[in-house]
Amino acid sequence: MSFEDILLNVMRPARYIGREHNAVNKNPARIKFNACLCFPELYDIGMSNLGIRILYDILNSRKDLACERAFCPWPDYQKVLKDNSLKLTSLESGTPLGKFDLLGFSVNNELNYTNILSMFSLSGIPFTAKERGAGFPLIIAGGNCSLNPEPIADFFDLIVIGEAEEVIVDIVKICTKFKKKYGSVCARKEELLIELSKVPGIYVPQFYNVEYDKDMTVKEFTPGKNGIPSVIKKVYVKNLDKCLRPLSWIVPNVEVIHDRIGIEIMRGCPHRCRFCQAHSYFSPLRIRSPKVIFNLAKRLYKVSGYEQISLLSLSSSDYPFMEGLVGRLIKYFSRKAVSIALPSVRPKNITENVSRLLSSQRKTGLTFAPEAGTDRLRRIINKDINIEELFQAAKGAYKAGYQRIKLYFMIGLPKENDSDLEAIVDLASKLSYLRKDFARQAAQISLSISTFIPKPHTPFQWLNMSKMDETRRKQGYLKKLILSRPGLESKIKINFHNVHISVVEAALSRGHRGLSKVIQSAFDKGAQFDQWSDCFNFDIWQQAFSENGFDIEESATRSIALEKTLPWDFIDMGINKEFLKDEFRKALT
Ligand code: SF4
Repeated sequence: MSFEDILLNVMRPARYIGREHNAVNKNPARIKFNACLCFPELYDIGMSNLGIRILYDILNSRKDLACERAFCPWPDYQKVLKDNSLKLTSLESGTPLGKFDLLGFSVNNELNYTNILSMFSLSGIPFTAKERGAGFPLIIAGGNCSLNPEPIADFFDLIVIGEAEEVIVDIVKICTKFKKKYGSVCARKEELLIELSKVPGIYVPQFYNVEYDKDMTVKEFTPGKNGIPSVIKKVYVKNLDKCLRPLSWIVPNVEVIHDRIGIEIMRGCPHRCRFCQAHSYFSPLRIRSPKVIFNLAKRLYKVSGYEQISLLSLSSSDYPFMEGLVGRLIKYFSRKAVSIALPSVRPKNITENVSRLLSSQRKTGLTFAPEAGTDRLRRIINKDINIEELFQAAKGAYKAGYQRIKLYFMIGLPKENDSDLEAIVDLASKLSYLRKDFARQAAQISLSISTFIPKPHTPFQWLNMSKMDETRRKQGYLKKLILSRPGLESKIKINFHNVHISVVEAALSRGHRGLSKVIQSAFDKGAQFDQWSDCFNFDIWQQAFSENGFDIEESATRSIALEKTLPWDFIDMGINKEFLKDEFRKALT
């Protein structure tokens, strides 16, 4: 079957074609080392990830190295590959993944774990690092999963803890040296891994011995080789102005989730919400200078022709030079009909230029994340958001023509009671009717309600998560509250995260090494694309946990005693454990 025939048999074939504007295709004759960045999700999602674009640009800036990309294909494409005994290949040169020197997986979500195995399986690559010898690539991972890499420890040769921009260059240098000396990167794998394990930020799981207690906490965690660290310290880019990547921007041939240029203006977040894992992963706060951002925006616009530039950070409106930056960008780009987007705005810092920017954007909707319904609960979770300021921001938005507001909340937070849920509906109702002061109709409010998961490296990591029955009761109560108020149902749309998906996510994010076998069992039974509710199958996960001796709900919802050693305690994210404990106590007293 030709590649063209394959494409005729699958949905959205442009996902698999490559050949995008600014994709890098190098002459194989000039290449000494080839790497493939793998994203265990669909192309549409992977190409919206800034990290993969940054690494692609860094690696391809080396003349003797080719860096390509591969994504997890949708089941229809997988079927065609299997039916025709074909292997999964890279987008750029069509090389099967098993033929690369290095595969680098960007793993940012626990619900992608089975997709990693799917990509291995479609490439004929054995699942565990110990099964792979000289004939296979070195397979590494990085991304948010490094906050607790233990559930995927068996699958990877090494895992980068923290940000990979700088350390990836060291990894490639060492691998190139081994390839030159021994003919293939993994010809002397043990020797290679020992050398790599001494590089700051690199964790080689197979070199550590771990014993667990029955409650999934750690009895003993010891390095099994001399000279390797017992604690792995996160690595991160110290100066964002010196890491000016990407300098080019691939333009997909098919619409992707974030179909625009994205430029980081800040990395990290000045706030310390106690449930937030992103804060730990991206700390410390680093700020890019307005001049550098402006020059990068001009360059990326020139090479891509995109008509929208998004200024990215966890909390964009906390960027200290926002007013001047936005003014300069609007002045330069409005002449070119390029719009500037500002996601993650907080109500507090909406200044003159920012509101000008917001009012010039498509007035479809504005998003805020109060996370909890009452001030009391927001204080417990340390969510610094002032509801009066939120109302002021909403008024400004309605005046500018906005019709919709989206609000993010969590349920199952510590010390939450039903009055906190009632406050969510009150807030949504008031915000909706507020628009009547400026327009004929009330606003449409969209409530996105997720379930609180006590994630590793946060002050709440020791807490329990709500049992499934309790989460369902709270979801039902919120629906009932909306239905009980005449006319409110048409104004408030409520969307809940799937209870079962949240439980799998929690169990995997708080798990230990034993879960590598659970993930493998779930994959063998057909689990993949677990983020997608139409693909997700809870029965499979329940069986996979129970066959390996675990109860899925107990694994997800257990609380952990403060004095216990956690499966992820060997990772130093730069945030002192005593500080996390103090924050935990402050929240609950
Ligand atoms: S403001 Fe957002 S990113 Fe910052 S700590 Fe809070 S939840 Fe995390």
